[in-house]
Amino acid sequence: MNDCLFCRIVAGELPSTPVLGTDTTYAFRDVNPGAPIHVLVVPREHIADAAAVTPDHGNVLAEMFQTAQQVASAEGLSERGYRLVFNVGPDSGNSVPHLHLHVMGGRVMAWPPG
Ligand code: AMP
Repeated sequence: MNDCLFCRIVAGELPSTPVLGTDTTYAFRDVNPGAPIHVLVVPREHIADAAAVTPDHGNVLAEMFQTAQQVASAEGLSERGYRLVFNVGPDSGNSVPHLHLHVMGGRVMAWPPG
């Protein structure tokens, strides 16, 4: 996906601030953070969004969640907690069509979100 923003970030063609990565996933800081800690976890392979996930993606999804757990631990969020978000479609505000898990924390998170 040459024209996909997050594919290009994963490939190192565009800059990002890395947090950690695995063979399957990459975690980097959101450029416009909505919380003191705001990290995006993406699969290295292109998956459009959560609505495109199938059972074949099971291992990738599990690794995304494991990466999110490691991000939370590395960022000191594990004890107080954090929010994990997948946005899907225009009403959610989804703006980048490459699956990404928002890991957000470092403050009390309002519920329900705006
Ligand atoms: P979403 O609204 O769920 O599609 O989230 C996309 C997120 O990607 C937003 O929070 C943006 O701030 C973030 N974002 C967009 N471009 C970049 C970039 N080049 N590097 C890091 N984060 C980005």
